[in-house]
Amino acid sequence: MSGRRPLVAGNWKMNKTGVEAREHIARLRALLGDGELEADVAVCAPFTALEAAARAASGSPVEVYAQAVHEAPSGPHTGEISAGMIVATGSDGTLVGHSERRAAGETDAQVAARVRAALDAGLQVIVCVGESLAQREAGETEPWCEGQVRAALGRVRAEEVATLAIAYEPIWAIGTGRTATPETAQAACAHVRTVAAGFLDPAALRVLYGGSVTPDNARELMAQPDVDGALVGGASLDPDGFAAIVAEAP
Ligand code: PEP
Repeated sequence: MSGRRPLVAGNWKMNKTGVEAREHIARLRALLGDGELEADVAVCAPFTALEAAARAASGSPVEVYAQAVHEAPSGPHTGEISAGMIVATGSDGTLVGHSERRAAGETDAQVAARVRAALDAGLQVIVCVGESLAQREAGETEPWCEGQVRAALGRVRAEEVATLAIAYEPIWAIGTGRTATPETAQAACAHVRTVAAGFLDPAALRVLYGGSVTPDNARELMAQPDVDGALVGGASLDPDGFAAIVAEAP
């Protein structure tokens, strides 16, 4: 047993209106109950559903995260929202550096600045790293992830370890049904933890696996010693399936 509390987060991506978020969370609450759970549970909602989601989750163990944040407090950044705006919705945290955002141009420097801005605002953070298929096939997984982890944690303080988690999400596994084997996930999460040890207490840092996690494969993935939970995309859209994944947390 690592002593680290598992975290299972659902990334809804560009899905669900406010009304749908309310319905989803009501069902999730009914499935999970409002008592003590074995894992921390979060849903990462689109900006437009954050307020509805946060209201629906109020008083329950379900936490609400945004999917992205801008580093500036305000200003000429059309289409972006600030950490303060996320806090004002009643949300608890945010994803930073999801590969779908990185593919749209988010840089390592922006990820570092956005992690810092979110932590400064009092938000919890899940920061994502992971390699492409070409990088894995070229044997570049470890140096690539090392660079991303070093960049993401460059402005994090050691005492912030409890408010930040890293999600190792190989791009080739996201939305493809090609889940990493438990051994592959374990090796990469262990490597992420080793690199992160230069910044944060590795015994306290939570490292999640993400990439085609389902109720059927979640148990074996989350049972790995360096896998402290899951970031779940497609399978989190159905509250019953997501609750089934939460139930597999060790
Ligand atoms: C994700 O969006 O972070 C993700 C892991 O997606 P999926 O579970 O659909 O692969």
